[in-house]
Amino acid sequence: MVYYVSSFLNKMKQKIINPYRNGYNHSYKNKDCPFCNEKILKRQAIPDLENNHWHILVNYYPYLDGNIMIVSKRHLLNISSLTAEEWGSLQNMIKQTQKLLTKIFKTESFNIGINIGPYSGATVKHLHWQIIPRMAEVKNGGVINLLSGLQIIKISPQELKERIIKANREE
Ligand SMILES: [Zn+2]
Repeated sequence: MVYYVSSFLNKMKQKIINPYRNGYNHSYKNKDCPFCNEKILKRQAIPDLENNHWHILVNYYPYLDGNIMIVSKRHLLNISSLTAEEWGSLQNMIKQTQKLLTKIFKTESFNIGINIGPYSGATVKHLHWQIIPRMAEVKNGGVINLLSGLQIIKISPQELKERIIKANREE
């Protein structure tokens, strides 16, 4: 029963609050990798922030406002496939993106996470980290949100991309 309720709420989230997330699921089923797709990279990547090994992408199917992803340039499925150089340069990417999101969203709270493999809940197999700033106003966003995990996205991915580019250029 608990599973049914949670599954139902998850569908509601996808259809009503955040209809976007189905997009990535679709790609996953088709075995088509969105993070190797030039059109998607052009739409979502922030060229100002990339380095030799990693892209920064705004998430078009965000969990919460401000959700960006650090995506490996190579199509990798596991952390164990990273070279020492790729692993090392990831640290700077996390630091820099956190700094910019702190500035934009005026918060020191973050979720930084990764899902790996078919049973993890990952919708895209290609190695990527989710960086999600957390704000008090969202945490206290009402009883329905607290019970179900539903969140309302207020900032479009394109607007987020513009804000990040602007914040980075002001550094
Ligand atoms: Zn890929």
